[in-house]
Amino acid sequence: SRVDVISCRNLLICLEPSAQRKAMPTFHYALKPGGFLLLGASESVGGFTDLFQAIDSKHKIYAKKSARIAMPVSSFKKARGEELQVFRSPAAPAHVIGVGVPDAVRGEINAQREADRIAVSLYAPPGVLVNADLDILQFRGSTGPYLEPASGRATFELLKMVREGMLLPLRSAIDLAKTEHRTVRKENVRIKRDAVHCLVNLEVIPLKNLRETFLLIVFEEAKAMQLATPTDNATSEPTAPDLDAANQQRRVAELETELAETRDYLRALNEQVQIANEQFQAANEEVQSANEELQSSNEELETSKEELESTNEELTTVNDELSNRNQELNRLNNDLVNLQAAANIGIILLSSDLKIRRFSPYAETLFDLLAGDVGRPIAHLRHNLDDSSAAPFDLVALCADVVKNLREQDREVRKHGGRWYSLRVRPYVTVDNQPDGAVIVMLDIDTLKRSEQAVLESEAALSVVDRRKNEFLAMLGHELRNPLAALTHGLNLLGTVAEASPRREELRGMMVRQTNRIGSLLDMLLDIGRVISGKIELANGLVDLSEVARAAVETIGPLIETQQHTLTLNLPSPKTVLMLGDADRLTQVIENLLTNAAKYTDRGGQIVLTVEAVDDQARISVSDSGIGIGADLMPHVFDLFTQASRTLDRAKGGLGLGLTLVKTLAEMHGGHVTVNSAGLGHGSEFVVTLPRLLERRAIDRSAGGAPQNSAPQRRVRRILLIDDEVEMAELFGELLARRGHQILVVHSGRAALDQIANFQPDVVLLDLGLPIMDGYQVARQIRDLYTGNLIIVAITGYQNDELRLKQAGFHHHFTKPVD
Ligand code: ADP
Repeated sequence: SRVDVISCRNLLICLEPSAQRKAMPTFHYALKPGGFLLLGASESVGGFTDLFQAIDSKHKIYAKKSARIAMPVSSFKKARGEELQVFRSPAAPAHVIGVGVPDAVRGEINAQREADRIAVSLYAPPGVLVNADLDILQFRGSTGPYLEPASGRATFELLKMVREGMLLPLRSAIDLAKTEHRTVRKENVRIKRDAVHCLVNLEVIPLKNLRETFLLIVFEEAKAMQLATPTDNATSEPTAPDLDAANQQRRVAELETELAETRDYLRALNEQVQIANEQFQAANEEVQSANEELQSSNEELETSKEELESTNEELTTVNDELSNRNQELNRLNNDLVNLQAAANIGIILLSSDLKIRRFSPYAETLFDLLAGDVGRPIAHLRHNLDDSSAAPFDLVALCADVVKNLREQDREVRKHGGRWYSLRVRPYVTVDNQPDGAVIVMLDIDTLKRSEQAVLESEAALSVVDRRKNEFLAMLGHELRNPLAALTHGLNLLGTVAEASPRREELRGMMVRQTNRIGSLLDMLLDIGRVISGKIELANGLVDLSEVARAAVETIGPLIETQQHTLTLNLPSPKTVLMLGDADRLTQVIENLLTNAAKYTDRGGQIVLTVEAVDDQARISVSDSGIGIGADLMPHVFDLFTQASRTLDRAKGGLGLGLTLVKTLAEMHGGHVTVNSAGLGHGSEFVVTLPRLLERRAIDRSAGGAPQNSAPQRRVRRILLIDDEVEMAELFGELLARRGHQILVVHSGRAALDQIANFQPDVVLLDLGLPIMDGYQVARQIRDLYTGNLIIVAITGYQNDELRLKQAGFHHHFTKPVD
């Protein structure tokens, strides 16, 4: 409270009328007497003209009126938000006793005040205190004779309460007092009181030294006479003859005064009406212009509304589009997440400042990442990656380089010295082709890397084999060239030597030996070829290893003797160490080992052949005191074409095939071969381990009986020999005929087919390399045509496909030259 100015502009229009109604009394209460209220241009105090008086209506400046507030205390309490004990009109005389006034003094003042009151009530003239609007604020003394409550709504308006006849003189007196700020007195005012006319005096006293205008109006009786109007009660009242001339004159004067006052009043009223009219016109104009403004505002509002509606529609469309986009984005996101999870590719997206922006689930395991690592610098990552270089692998520098130079980088890296990964860092490029960080992609290439290494190693191995093969071919060429050279010389010499001379016989013997040498070399080659490529079948039977060892010694014995070696045999008694197998092939194994021992031991060495049973295995060992085997050769000694050193002097002979044959045959029998050597010059020991048979009975059962030791009975066969090499065929035929067989020699398939029905052979010896119709076709046709019991034997010059031979109907095959 006690505020000088309240400025509340353009707020009230925002409030509901009920709130506005609460605000006004509150402002009134808060302001000091005479304080100002400033409102907005389009606001007004509304119905609260009793609280505020317009000082400047245009600028909406109001002054607080000292109103007798007719506001209910309760609403005021509400407005103030507090309890009010009493409401005291600010216009009331200030009876407030100062705080701290002693009780005795206060009692005296009260007594004085009471005395004043009594004196006033006894002697002071009756009157009223009114404000500028002529509302009665206080009744003083007995005002009943002068005032009378008007019928209708209760009001304190003075002019509505004055008795008949007082209105005009009081009104003019008040106007005068207000304008001239002085006390105005009217005497002998004729009023009508309870149907009786009487004269009263009245005085209008403006109160001075107050901020507002207050008027004290005092009434008094003019004289104690009652006047009756002749018109009022014509029948009961005395008429004109009762009145004397003085009275008439006085009455005329009174009437004239009254007339003048009425005229004044009417003039004043007229002026007021004019002013009001002007104000009304102005107000009307204002209202009109306000109306126009309102109309244009309304139109603007309509336009704005339409604009808003179209904006709203646009917004709805945009919203739909956005929600579609959102759905698309969701789907994309789902696709991306699934893709990342399915692809097993470690992906990390980095921002330009190398902070982690996103990563795939697989990257999570590779780099031990957690969801909270998003936003962390890549430098904080522990990766445990090494590349093939010696320096520590710097992932951060690599990423920084990619971001700076916008150039993709590839590395093969290894984690913890374990799995291999392909690590690729490439620039992150936005849709509008702007660089924005980097992408790390890691792919598991461990399997690829390892198989690459394996392939590299097996090339390397292949190249060794290739080199060995080339050496072998050179060696083979050399090996063949020697006997050929001998044969050539022999042939040349034959021409110069006389027939039937001993020299000629000698030459022939040499040539036969050289021919045999070539033949056996080729035999060996073809045989070994067949064995190594798995194209032979073992002729399995019960084998006595002691016997096999003796057979081998018998064959190799001459070579050992030539070398003057001492051969020690540790052989079991016959039929003790037995196995199921191919006796010839097992003999071949021991022969090869003994040959090597003889070859690679200097003259006069020691060779020991041992055959023994160790548990369920048969153990064949050939040891020598020879040159031994170096550590470098040891792992490859059983490989094809392997030889310690290849020297073209062929002192040792051999082509690097023997041990491969030994190994293959041992394995075909379910066994294996090992080698020991204490090093070069310290001899060697080869050990073949084979599964042996434990009981004789078991052998009989599984082998289907004991092998046939007895020599097959020689029978006379009818043999059809088919070979296009006429000379050779005739010679071979003669050889067979000398053995007592019946022979028919033909030189083509056609001839064979023509003759076969007549000849009825037991055996057909068929050369595969026939012209026009080859051996396979001939064999097939023979089988189709000829129903008799027949054995067809192929005679070939090269390795053969046994399956193909079987399918064509061959029972056996021999390699040329047939012994
Ligand atoms: P080769 O025909 O050369 O003898 P092998 O396959 O039988 O072929 O032997 C391969 C190589 O193993 C030989 O060239 C030789 O260097 C070595 N070798 C084989 N047996 C012996 C042995 N008893 N003592 C020393 N070296 C041997």
